[in-house]
Amino acid sequence: MDLDRTDVGILQALQADARLSFRDLARRLGVSVPTISARVSTLRDLGILTGFHAAVDPEKLGQVRVVLLVRFARGSGDAVGNRIAALEGVRWTVRTRDDRIVAEAVLPRAAALEEFLARVRSVPGVAVCEHHVATKALKESPRAVIEDGIAAVLSCFECGQPIEGAPLRIRLDGRFHYLCCPSCERLFRDRYARVRSRAGGSPPRGRPPRSP
Ligand SMILES: [Zn+2]
Repeated sequence: MDLDRTDVGILQALQADARLSFRDLARRLGVSVPTISARVSTLRDLGILTGFHAAVDPEKLGQVRVVLLVRFARGSGDAVGNRIAALEGVRWTVRTRDDRIVAEAVLPRAAALEEFLARVRSVPGVAVCEHHVATKALKESPRAVIEDGIAAVLSCFECGQPIEGAPLRIRLDGRFHYLCCPSCERLFRDRYARVRSRAGGSPPRGRPPRSP
């Protein structure tokens, strides 16, 4: 699904300053406040806008930043990656084409490093763990590249699979939901009606969490 100029403008502005109000955004982008509010809520429903974060410099707090390069036993890459991602202090984790897990962790103090590395090495499947302690941050940027012409990779709100081509968009209770095919639409509508009729239940929102 293509994002238009307003969507791109909202994402760029919020990546630079998450405290901007809908009024600020509306003024900057030359659209109305309700338009901003509707777009932000759609971007959140689609899982594109995932949160509004504060940026804190860990070095100013005496914290230690460490980058890990991990090699793993054959066939255990995703399991190792998920275990490392779940360790306390780990900020991001990726699996690379050359079969390594690369991760960054921020630890509360230097003394916590050995214990942290011991936890990494005890993850089943870890073969070699190389680590590099950062002394200085030279650049930090928001991660997503937001520019004109970007398109959203939409996942079906029912089955969680990526939607190829144009999504089926349905509106329920004033909110849009995106589905890949008529049969997912039927299942989603059923599930929605079921949850809604149950006392205290709130209807499904956004795409369901993907199973690992
Ligand atoms: Zn589907």
